[in-house]
Amino acid sequence: CGIVGYIGKRRVVPVLLEGLKRLEYRGYDSAGVVYLQDNELRRYRCRGKLAGLEAAVSAALGSPAYTGLGHTRWATHGAPTEQNAHPHTDCSGRLVVVHNGIIENYHSLREELIGKGHRFTSETDTEVLAHLIEEHLEGDLVAAVRASLRRVEGSYAVGVMCADHPDLLVAARNHSPLVLGVEEDGSSFMASDVPALLPYTRQVLYLNDEELAVLRDGARQIYRLDSGEPVQRDITVIDWN
Ligand code: GLU
Repeated sequence: CGIVGYIGKRRVVPVLLEGLKRLEYRGYDSAGVVYLQDNELRRYRCRGKLAGLEAAVSAALGSPAYTGLGHTRWATHGAPTEQNAHPHTDCSGRLVVVHNGIIENYHSLREELIGKGHRFTSETDTEVLAHLIEEHLEGDLVAAVRASLRRVEGSYAVGVMCADHPDLLVAARNHSPLVLGVEEDGSSFMASDVPALLPYTRQVLYLNDEELAVLRDGARQIYRLDSGEPVQRDITVIDWN
């Protein structure tokens, strides 16, 4: 399973597909990508190998889209179907989440959110996070992600994007791997593992458990999930291939 995310100056679809290929060794049963174009999210998902996703998204390889997320799924909750493949959206369809790990308390969160009128379209534990963020969203995406993750028990690496906040990606982790990358031109990456970043950069920022990061084109900032305090993290230069 794996996550890749990018915000910067490159056309994003090839960056996402290349990154997912470089994470294939981690294993997966389905895959998906989402990117922002003309103020709308465009999502492609596929059961099975990446070749299927590549075929589905082939017409979009040259799309003028510069922000996106990709995911390979190793199903834990819900069968490996297209419907259960990530990215998952909220009710508005303007917010998406990719997730690796397990949300242990998803059942009670799901019941609570259904009680508040949310409609679910998958059997995954992950989808509760998209709806929980939607529930908390009052203009500040980062605050909504942070408030939502404080209610989640379990393990996660997550990437979040929202069509109404086109200038940023949010990343967070707890007991699942996620690293950030910084390209020379200021572009920002997230990935489950360093090999997904190596075609573009050797400069990485390791994210620790219970940390959240805000990625922009030209800037990145890491925060503590509990206190919201900013964290100073030095760049590590990767010296292996
Ligand atoms: N628990 C999530 C799911 O079943 C994520 C699985 C993964 O780590 O890929 O959809």
